[in-house]
Amino acid sequence: MVVSALQHAPNPFSFSFTYHFTAPALPPSTTARRSSSARAPARSPMAVSSVRIAVVGDVHDQWDLEEDTKALHFLKPDLVLFTGDFGDENVELVRSVAKLEFAKAIILGNHDSWFTQQFSGKRKDSVQLQLECLGAEHVAYQRLDYPQLKLSIVGGRPFSCGGEKLFRKKLLSAGFGVEDIDQSARRIYKAAMGAPEDHLVILLAHNGPTGLGSNIDDICGKDWDLGGGDYGDPDLTKAISELKESAKLCIPLVIFGHMHKELAHGNGLRKMIVVGDDGIIYLNGAIVPRVRSLTSELTGDTSLNSNEAPHSDLGSTRAYTTVDISDGRVTKIAECWVSVVGEMTKLQEEHVLLSVA
Ligand SMILES: [Zn+2]
Repeated sequence: MVVSALQHAPNPFSFSFTYHFTAPALPPSTTARRSSSARAPARSPMAVSSVRIAVVGDVHDQWDLEEDTKALHFLKPDLVLFTGDFGDENVELVRSVAKLEFAKAIILGNHDSWFTQQFSGKRKDSVQLQLECLGAEHVAYQRLDYPQLKLSIVGGRPFSCGGEKLFRKKLLSAGFGVEDIDQSARRIYKAAMGAPEDHLVILLAHNGPTGLGSNIDDICGKDWDLGGGDYGDPDLTKAISELKESAKLCIPLVIFGHMHKELAHGNGLRKMIVVGDDGIIYLNGAIVPRVRSLTSELTGDTSLNSNEAPHSDLGSTRAYTTVDISDGRVTKIAECWVSVVGEMTKLQEEHVLLSVA
């Protein structure tokens, strides 16, 4: 399926990379060319009734453009969503992600502004460089519309670290014109409200909203403190609440990361999916680390062992969370581990998180 994305939300940037936010995200002609090389085999151009999204959760330096491209070709998503935390301001890695030839939307996390507290006026700092190479595919407070998929992606607050206070306040103020939680909520709301009426709206944020539980294993629960606590973003909650009141939009899904699946201090695993009373699905994609090296047992080739070949020759298995949408409804969500050994790819593990008959 050929996908194009158009951006409608206003651009508050005053930096030299402003032009990235004013142009269409993927001009149709460019997109058609890129998409045809990115997907094989292509889905029917008319198959809007079926959409697949692949979520790449918090990367934390675990990314290889070639290997992840092979795994994504295996999964055949129409759209790839990234929840951020690529590294600690790992500009080269973000540049590599920007080269991925799939339709995609991205939000930067707190680790992507790990060192930079305010924009540098004299030279491009690492946050500016990341924003520049991502261009309009960085969806913070913006919306990308995918008319062929009948889908819009709306970005939440970038650099979020969780909790009640804004993280990287000076970056948010200078780069996005956001001074406080209320303004942040308003910006998310406004970006969503312009979505075409026949589109599903999916929110993409680095951290999830408050109100989803305060136990250490809850989807946004504080796990480094044995007392737990709700570490969600209050602005995201407020925006969602106001969007629901407007009753104009269909929001089936909110996707985020930040709070890792594996809990601190060996306290087990986090709940990665919650279906709200209102039917909204909240999905945490932060499977960290998202790449494992394959052992010779897993590849089934006992002639290889770590003494005979470099470890990387054995290949890797890479985590994604897939979301399948049919006829406007989310029908399946699964944590998928895809193995990549040379040119061979296969589904190594699948953990179904949600399945609707
Ligand atoms: Zn984070």
